Amino acid sequence: MSKALWLEKTDDGHKSRIGQISETDLPEGDVTVEVAYSTLNYKDALAICGKAPIVRSWPMVPGIDFAGTVKESRNDEWQPGDKVVLNGWGTGETRLGGMASLARVPGDWLVRLPDAYSLEDAMAIGTAGYTAMLAVMRLEEHGLKPEAGPVLVTGAMGGVGSVAILLLAARGFEVWALTGRPEEEEHLKSLGAAGVVPRDELSGKQKPLLKERWAGGVDAVGSHVLANLLASTRYNGTVAACGLAAGMDLPVTVAPFILRGITLAGVDSVYVPPLRRRAAWHRLGQELPPHRLHAISRTIGLDAVEDAAAELLAGKVKGRLVVEIGD
Ligand code: NDP
Repeated sequence: MSKALWLEKTDDGHKSRIGQISETDLPEGDVTVEVAYSTLNYKDALAICGKAPIVRSWPMVPGIDFAGTVKESRNDEWQPGDKVVLNGWGTGETRLGGMASLARVPGDWLVRLPDAYSLEDAMAIGTAGYTAMLAVMRLEEHGLKPEAGPVLVTGAMGGVGSVAILLLAARGFEVWALTGRPEEEEHLKSLGAAGVVPRDELSGKQKPLLKERWAGGVDAVGSHVLANLLASTRYNGTVAACGLAAGMDLPVTVAPFILRGITLAGVDSVYVPPLRRRAAWHRLGQELPPHRLHAISRTIGLDAVEDAAAELLAGKVKGRLVVEIGD
């Protein structure tokens, strides 16, 4: 029998329970996957804690990503035994997600597991790390090169931030880490950060323009932090925006765009076309060796997910949380 973490609607919100899942519960799709690992992403934590209307169909299995082995396939591209990864496409939101030992999806949503990784490694990267790679690709597409100057990664201790630091440092960028946890400076430097910027420096009310400091950045937090990062980005710089950990708002003026030619590049990971997501995972496999993931991830069981979700939203989790589905 297969198991799942279920979220069920109640009169006063919702509750979670570990229960069973069978083939008849699964949604439409031509590939059935035996899931080994999922992860706890920020969006999963919002869903599990009921802090935002992420779940749009009940009951739901959370988990916006998974890694596993193809069990059955009616899709020519996939055979039983193939190792695969899935990110997004509404899993854990509108259709049953990765925190279950069985999942079913259309085959063109799947990405082949890069040779460099185990299934657990792939989920140590998870949607946060794959989003960090999409953000780095956006910066490069706008011409950002290491010689342009230092770059800033915000939400540095989180999943997106940690992987963004690893990727940018490996490409030769001088990366600075914006964090609310300055006591973690040594850890952030071990990932490749040149130094730490205290979160408070960019959290205040924003002026239209600040001293030019950053050639670009990856922002996982939004709100005043992103506004201040844009205001302190150098002429022609690019900032990739992918998160809202500090808030959904963006109190910015047009000054950075019309006076300094700054580009604000948006990053969505959920509906990225198959070719681009395969390119992102291929590059992860080439550029991020598995041993670098150990410092930024730990693995928990399904029974620890609910408590871990609250910790994650409180900003207390370091890096990534892999969820082992287990037998
Ligand atoms: P995490 O919870 O792992 O990390 C978020 C980090 O943001 C925290 O570790 C903390 O870093 C910082 N932070 C938390 N609260 C605040 C605050 N109030 N003000 C400023 N900084 C804060 O989440 P992820 O890294 O997985 O995700 C980051 C964001 O990216 C989320 O909003 C998530 O929804 C979004 N996301 C978007 C995707 C997309 O497709 N666009 C895909 C994946 C994620 P520190 O302690 O170092 O300051």
